[in-house]
Amino acid sequence: MEITIIRKQDNIIHFLAEGIDVAFANALRRTMLTRLPAMAIDEVLVLENTSVMYDEMLAHRMGLLPLVTDLDSYNLPEDCDCEGKGCSLCQCTLTLEKQAGDEVEVVYSRDLTSQDPKVVPASGDIPLVKLAPHQHLIIEAYARLGKGVENAKFQPVSTVSYKYVPIVEVNKEECNKCGDCVAVCPKNILLVEGDTIATQNTLDCSLCEACVEVCEPGAITIDSKKDSFLFKVESTGALTPEKIVEKAAEILKERIRLALDYANSL
Ligand SMILES: [Zn+2]
Repeated sequence: MEITIIRKQDNIIHFLAEGIDVAFANALRRTMLTRLPAMAIDEVLVLENTSVMYDEMLAHRMGLLPLVTDLDSYNLPEDCDCEGKGCSLCQCTLTLEKQAGDEVEVVYSRDLTSQDPKVVPASGDIPLVKLAPHQHLIIEAYARLGKGVENAKFQPVSTVSYKYVPIVEVNKEECNKCGDCVAVCPKNILLVEGDTIATQNTLDCSLCEACVEVCEPGAITIDSKKDSFLFKVESTGALTPEKIVEKAAEILKERIRLALDYANSL
């Protein structure tokens, strides 16, 4: 498999994977969604909550906060020497203490104090609850590693998708240069160049075939490569998108090896 990074911005990466089939592309996508460990709050101890939000609701909101994950310092509870009971190698404590003054106050994810400076909310701007004057909160929360297959809150990605690589061809003989295809293309793939229709940024093509419909039959053909896929991976901020792809490839390789070992042992 050949991987080429097309575009990268903050938490999003677009890359081209060549020399694979659709089954492998989907296996890679599903591995990123469900098999990668990421940190999330899993237990919440509400010591004081005079806000209007129920403890359960507040705990649920806290569970959904994406936390920056340090895969090197923490074990999955099932792999930890403590046998999942919870220790400093598999658990991180976060505390929240907030008292509203005479004004209404919003409690944000940045108000959480983590015992480990490396495990903090990926964004500090996520509102948790609104406190009316003089209401207060004292909460202790325990974060641990988990996988998306167990609960979606552990997914390190908000989106991971792939599409076929488009091949857009303009047949100069059939094309009457009316330019309708240029106007109708939602992705600005086509442009008038001299007296012909040219293509640009064809990787952006969404294969909608709007151009094929407005043109003379056979003037434009849209096809796709069968062994190349354009991936888009958007991280929640738990891990960098590069780390997600790299780690998913490692996990998938290991799972394939285990499956082969099992098949050979039959
Ligand atoms: Zn442990």
